[in-house]
Amino acid sequence: MVRERIADDIYVFTSRLYAQVTAGAILTKEGAVLVDTLYFPEETKAIKQFLEERLKMPVRYVINTHYHADHSQGTYLFPQAQVVSHTLCRELLHTVGRAGLAQAKQDATELAEVEIVLPDLVLDEGVLQLHLGGKTIELRHMPGHSPDLLSVYVTNNQVLFASDNLMPVPTIFDGSHDDLVHSLEEILALELEAIVQGHGEVVLRGEIAGVIHSDLSYLQNIHTAVTRIVNNGNSAESLKKIDIESCGKSRVPLNGLVSDLHYANLHKLYAEMNDNR
Ligand SMILES: [Zn+2]
Repeated sequence: MVRERIADDIYVFTSRLYAQVTAGAILTKEGAVLVDTLYFPEETKAIKQFLEERLKMPVRYVINTHYHADHSQGTYLFPQAQVVSHTLCRELLHTVGRAGLAQAKQDATELAEVEIVLPDLVLDEGVLQLHLGGKTIELRHMPGHSPDLLSVYVTNNQVLFASDNLMPVPTIFDGSHDDLVHSLEEILALELEAIVQGHGEVVLRGEIAGVIHSDLSYLQNIHTAVTRIVNNGNSAESLKKIDIESCGKSRVPLNGLVSDLHYANLHKLYAEMNDNR
């Protein structure tokens, strides 16, 4: 786990074990707010130790930005914290999350002690403001990567935790292409100093517009390419020919995992377009 201090009172933790997934901590005079919790207990325990033992910062709130295990699985390590999410995240943790964990435990002994924790405070729509120790933290429902996604905006620092709506390649296979376009446009309209992506490096002020425009153009490109295949009546097999670089993104990040994510995007769009015909 790599720890990075991106503001006086904001830390970002990036996994070394699982696809550079990130978590973050916002420190206040009244304790810490943890944004996501990483996949492997070993790494989440290192975060807990750093905050609670080294900084003497009790974790008051844990925000689950969405239900995916790599973002929510460490929540059980903070039993004293209030857990906050979108309503749908709570439902999906209870169903898909529980089933996924049971499956994952069969192959990974290090997950034996992990339990699903259902959030106790949920947001359905609009913005929830959390005021703690002089910080104002806004939770905004921004579906796209997944239907339950909340972004976390620290207004004092103009820092946005975008979760998986921002990562080295946009991902829509568990979410919605159109929702992601909409959410990215919403992010573009915010005045920001930095964005913490759900996976990969922090995006700094000067890079933000470029990154988001590149994501929007990728989403446009895959939509155009898949539309052509569907309109020509070609099979899903021909999606193979649409490589990630022809759609404007590098194949290198996340040790090449981005290419698999890209093909999953294409299959999702292809299935959706065929269903709608
Ligand atoms: Zn995710």
